[in-house]
Amino acid sequence: MSAEQMENFPFQLLDELAAIKSAALSDDYAYRQLAHLTENIGPRPSGSPQAKAASEYVAAELRKLGLEVQLEEVTVPHWVRGAEIAELVEYPGQVPDTRQKIVLTALGGSTATPNDGITADVLVVNNFDELRALGRDQVAGKIVLFNELFDKQKAAAGLSFMAYGEAVPYRGSGPKAAADLGAVAALIRSVASADFRLPHTGWSAAAGIPAGAVTAEDAELIGHLAGQGRVRMHLTLTPQKLPDAIGYNVVGDFKGSEHPEQIVVVSGHLDSWDLGTGAIDDGAGVVVAMEAAEILQKLHLRPKRTLRVIAWMDEETGGSGSKAYSRDHTSEFPNHVATIECDAGAAHPLGFDVKMTTHAAELLQPALGVLQSFGASALQPSSYSPGADITPMSDAGVPALGISQDSRTYFHYHHSAADTLDKVVPSELRENAAAMAVMGYALASMKDPLPR
Ligand SMILES: [Zn+2]
Repeated sequence: MSAEQMENFPFQLLDELAAIKSAALSDDYAYRQLAHLTENIGPRPSGSPQAKAASEYVAAELRKLGLEVQLEEVTVPHWVRGAEIAELVEYPGQVPDTRQKIVLTALGGSTATPNDGITADVLVVNNFDELRALGRDQVAGKIVLFNELFDKQKAAAGLSFMAYGEAVPYRGSGPKAAADLGAVAALIRSVASADFRLPHTGWSAAAGIPAGAVTAEDAELIGHLAGQGRVRMHLTLTPQKLPDAIGYNVVGDFKGSEHPEQIVVVSGHLDSWDLGTGAIDDGAGVVVAMEAAEILQKLHLRPKRTLRVIAWMDEETGGSGSKAYSRDHTSEFPNHVATIECDAGAAHPLGFDVKMTTHAAELLQPALGVLQSFGASALQPSSYSPGADITPMSDAGVPALGISQDSRTYFHYHHSAADTLDKVVPSELRENAAAMAVMGYALASMKDPLPR
């Protein structure tokens, strides 16, 4: 260790970090909390009664641990899913008096078709360039299907987020691009790394037309048939945009003993999509942050600085929780020493993605050394915030960390009905809790605030 590292991580602190790690690796607190959030409370979309109940539940649990807890009000969008039915009603080789069922789900923010649906020709494009080349003449009046492939080889090799980043623009702005050329509805191929004929929802920019995601298999089917001739679809999507609702960020402080005004944030987002129960996205992140406080309480350890547990609201449909926190706490940002978010699942942690100076990253090596025994010691510099909700803090110069997991199967389940508790391996969740608790306490108790 360098002299500066030794000064910041004296033996007593290293002993405490080792004790935190051992305690977390044999603690089932996070898993029990995740079971409650996902199975007893259930899906937690913004504006839903479950999201509100989950905020109140997490606040009560953090108070049990002795934290000072605030429910901070956030105005959130409130969109609810309706019927989602699609059939091919005309296609080459069709057997008379038959139709083919298409499995799909509405994208968040989608507008509705009439209750009895619409019928239109399907226009299949593989990317934005193809759409633009066709132009308004050929797009107007049609249902556009973006059949952009998800790069499963990248995902299998551990580059899941890169593959996601390549495909997800079609979900985010495909419907708007189609609407701008007169399309009557837009569909995307589900942004996912596995094919179980399961549709994956997600946020999409307001387009003013019905927008949905078909399964990879149905995108293939439609693509093949459209290559042979005319394909017409009957599409019914009846989601509703309700008036904005009130939601809450849960903000719980485990007060520091020496510098209570200095804050280290540990966080995950409490809202989820409605199809599954939000276990990997992102109940896991919330319970791992809660456990960071639970371990300290159990071991009677008090950090020098305040450890602030945040359960964010509305990451999935606009980030209003993150924006509200940034608005209400900007004056405290100079005293936010570091911020961590866990929002990439619950699989085995490899370490952290970090946006901070090289000097700051070097100073953290002793804490990473504690995590090395279970393989969570990698530090990957990132040029952007390693968590969506902590972006405003990161942009304000607060050193930011995101737990980086083995993401090879994350997008098999992400935003689908299969994001459920059984996808979380208890021993892997414990590793994530250990990574969060060790790093949170290290940042809160090292001698000097992490340099910016
Ligand atoms: Zn998430």
